[in-house]
Amino acid sequence: MAPESIVDHRARAALEFCWGDGERYLATYQLLRASCPCADCKVLRAAGGDGIAGDDVQLADIQPVGAYGVQFVFSDGHDRGIFPWVFLKEILEKRVRAAIAP
Ligand SMILES: [Zn+2]
Repeated sequence: MAPESIVDHRARAALEFCWGDGERYLATYQLLRASCPCADCKVLRAAGGDGIAGDDVQLADIQPVGAYGVQFVFSDGHDRGIFPWVFLKEILEKRVRAAIAP
């Protein structure tokens, strides 16, 4: 299920996702980059953990992928990761502990 809104907080290098059930998450670009589900990143993570992206990675673009999910383009040129909504929400629930206050 798609979030109701996605707000880009450039100054914080993070995206805010809001779902209709009231859940809100702030995900840093770095977290999203480090969670990239493409085959290349999976192999890299399996080999060496989380050290794929630097702290300064930026989000260059966001492309919708139908009703299915979203594709992020990162400042390091990586654009292969398509994040289905279900997968994205799962990452956020697992890795973003502190939901932001309304
Ligand atoms: Zn990737």
